[in-house]
Amino acid sequence: MATPALMQNYGERTLTLVRGEGSYVWDDGGRRYLDALSGIAVCGLGHCHPAVTAALCEQAGTLLHVSNLYNIPAQEQLAQQLVSLSGMDNVFFSNSGAEANEAAIKLARKLGNERGLAVPKILVMEGAFHGRTLATLTATGNKKAQEGFAPLTEGFLRVPFNDVAAVEKMADAHDDIVAILVEPVQGEGGIRVPDADYLPRLRAICDSRDWLLMLDEIQTANGRSGKLFAYQHSDGLLPDVVTTAKGLGNGVPIGACLARGKAAQLFGPGAHGSTFGGNPLACRAGLAVLETLAGEQLIERAGILGRQLLIQLREALGDCAAVTEIRGLGLLLGIELDRPCAALVEMARAQGLLINVTAGNVVRLLPPLTLSDQECDEIVGTVSTLIKQFARETA
Ligand SMILES: *Cc1c(COP(=O)(O)O)cnc(C)c1O
Repeated sequence: MATPALMQNYGERTLTLVRGEGSYVWDDGGRRYLDALSGIAVCGLGHCHPAVTAALCEQAGTLLHVSNLYNIPAQEQLAQQLVSLSGMDNVFFSNSGAEANEAAIKLARKLGNERGLAVPKILVMEGAFHGRTLATLTATGNKKAQEGFAPLTEGFLRVPFNDVAAVEKMADAHDDIVAILVEPVQGEGGIRVPDADYLPRLRAICDSRDWLLMLDEIQTANGRSGKLFAYQHSDGLLPDVVTTAKGLGNGVPIGACLARGKAAQLFGPGAHGSTFGGNPLACRAGLAVLETLAGEQLIERAGILGRQLLIQLREALGDCAAVTEIRGLGLLLGIELDRPCAALVEMARAQGLLINVTAGNVVRLLPPLTLSDQECDEIVGTVSTLIKQFARETA
């Protein structure tokens, strides 16, 4: 039983993990698990990667925090690297994904306010997940997550995901839209990969209407999709704002909101801030992550592993009628079933494998980018056997 000293917002937690190394974690009884979830797309380099550990130990013994009243060399270096790798102009650092999205939402609101709009609108998608703060919860397309938290905030309009016509229709009906906020692949929504021309067509609409294209890459960035940022799969496409977090610190809390062009000029001194955001410890972790992604060619590896996993999973589950679709981009993988399948999480754990089920009926795999071929085979073997067993038992 969980201690009553904790709020009960996470539900029952029955597994206690005490140690991690590479693709594996160990529980308090010494049992080993293959981690195909990476702390929800956070530990992309695997657990306790020595490059991150060394950077953190060194920084922890030098200087942890000074506040943003002072220069922070690691913050400036990380910003420069992110800017040069992304094609964006500048960065604001936060401590989480939701906060990075809050910065993006504030940029859009600032633009709307400068345009004299009373309630500037941001277009968001059905099935989207943008976080749990009030504004990002409002942007999130999940009624259950929003329930009981009225009043939500004003200023959002919603359309179906992967539906350009719906965006155009909304554009014609409202003259106070200033931005689109969208995930390049919906993560919590069930690893939904839109058509290849979706982002380019949204880019074109944003250009013609003078809106900001704001991408939520909290889950998709940091190499996981097979590119540093998932939008880099669309040739030459650049967003006006892009946010990331999860994989950027390999477990150290850090988020980033990157902006370009006019969006990069919207915040002046005092417009936004964070006590912790971009502190020396978090930024050293971010620098170690970027260095390791490049040094170990992990971004290319994520693409290769992702294609391999898709092929192997489709082959292993091709004859399983309960599986309606297997989809993904890089190491963002979803296996959709025709029935709720949360029970698979426990079944996998009993076999020594950590997975996740999202949107009720989608098995989500987010393994570390450092996964070996053998570990890849192990995930396919265990997951496909369990899904077939589950399909039989629930038929
Ligand atoms: C996880 C996630 C968030 C929220 O990040 P937190 O760090 O939990 O606030 C926002 N958007 C997407 C796409 C995410 O996957």
